[in-house]
Amino acid sequence: MKKVLALMMVVAMIASVAVLSGCGNKTADTAATTAAADKTYIIYSDNAFAPFEYLDTETNTYVGVDMEIMAAIAEDQGIKYEMHNEGFDASMGAVQSGQADAMIAGMTITDERKETFDFSEPYFDDGQVIVAKEGTTLDDLKGKTVAAKTSTVGGEYAESIKDQYGFTINYYEGSDNMYQAVSTGADVACVEDFSVIGYAIKTGEVKLSIISSEPANVKGYGFAVQKGKNAELLQKFDAGLANIKASGKYAEILKKYGY
Ligand code: GLN
Repeated sequence: MKKVLALMMVVAMIASVAVLSGCGNKTADTAATTAAADKTYIIYSDNAFAPFEYLDTETNTYVGVDMEIMAAIAEDQGIKYEMHNEGFDASMGAVQSGQADAMIAGMTITDERKETFDFSEPYFDDGQVIVAKEGTTLDDLKGKTVAAKTSTVGGEYAESIKDQYGFTINYYEGSDNMYQAVSTGADVACVEDFSVIGYAIKTGEVKLSIISSEPANVKGYGFAVQKGKNAELLQKFDAGLANIKASGKYAEILKKYGY
């Protein structure tokens, strides 16, 4: 009898391995599989958005506030996940297509995005600023091009003020590409989240200045899933966030990155 049981278990294991590594589109299948206890969630993020997520060239791993918040919450809640740092627009697309289960990428919670995403409780507040070479004024934007990042609220903000200041917009996939375009003079300015450009300026990563008076459209950042999907993961994220706030872990992570 014992032998039969053991054999059945082996058969079951082989069957589940076969399902997991099965034919067709593996990532889509993984995301579509309904929450099993041992499910490994696919989570996407940005890749050049310090201090939230960026490549630590010494360890060749992605580090930052989002990476550590996710790890701490996963540990607290027993969530298994794989992180894919592919960029912001790519993360939005991956969640919307079901290729990813969720994203954590300094993503601003907006009413418009709530039509296609469900968000966690906000875990950080930020707004957008205009950034240029030192000495540039808002009057200098007239007739020039301003850099913005694809699919971001920074892009939306740029669209909302372009007529007032008389500039046109060039879109970039990454924040690093955007800063470079301003540094080389390809664009006169860029729009970026205040904390992110503030960090880049503070660390000497970029030699640019904030030329707008104060951050616009300040809102919370949230962890996001496709609307109506992965409710269990979202609940766990919120429960874990509350726990790491209560334990002091959340404050510890923010402090490590200068907050
Ligand atoms: N907070 C901005 C947004 O949600 C930018 C996010 C990012 O570039 N990673 O659009």
